[in-house]
Amino acid sequence: MFRYETHLHTAPVSRCAGASVERTLTFYSRLGYAGVFITNHFIDGNINIDRSLPYAEKLAFYRSDYDNAVKLGRELGISVFFGVEMTYDGTDFLVYGLSPEWYEAHPEIEGMKKSALLALLAENGALVIHAHPFHHNRFIDHIRLYPNLVHGVEIFNACRTPEANAMAELYAKHYGLIPFAGSDNHSAEERPMLAGMLSSEPIKDEADFVRRCKNGELEIFKLENPQKDQ
Ligand SMILES: [Zn+2]
Ligand SMILES: [Zn+2]
Repeated sequence: MFRYETHLHTAPVSRCAGASVERTLTFYSRLGYAGVFITNHFIDGNINIDRSLPYAEKLAFYRSDYDNAVKLGRELGISVFFGVEMTYDGTDFLVYGLSPEWYEAHPEIEGMKKSALLALLAENGALVIHAHPFHHNRFIDHIRLYPNLVHGVEIFNACRTPEANAMAELYAKHYGLIPFAGSDNHSAEERPMLAGMLSSEPIKDEADFVRRCKNGELEIFKLENPQKDQ
């Protein structure tokens, strides 16, 4: 079986991330993962750049960690795929299957109403996953659900409480949404618990991942980090 990390942040692009691309990829390749999706916070979220800059400049910065990861991944023998984590005041969505070039060609998405944006992404072939839908803290005013605008739900996010994950699982089951899992790793080897998607075949590219996920060919997995505190 082939393991994939689906929810991953790197520094410097994600402001809240503590680990570089190099530390992150070294960690996952040592663990024997087949690949990772780099899903840094998009330009609507906790990106580490002045958000008043022009769209093209922000996009160039946004993709820089991913581009570096692709090069390093080739050296380390681990596949690197592109993803995005978008936000609407703490309601977060993971988006897979659209390339950095697609985002570069669509500056109109900046500032778009989230429900309209999610529909547009799906029309363009994206897989949209609601990340940790029942995450709630003092920065998140209220929980919003979009059962008709997402394909799947993170029913296991390795950073969230059992209660929040259990509610996410109930939500996904009730609406027949794809069960999905990810680590939300911001700190490479320091993250105690990991999660992701498992495939019986190697994933060729983002489109292959989207197709397999929509067909129900992938399984979720959880993994205690064997490198933690060694
Ligand atoms: Zn973050
Ligand atoms: Zn995240």
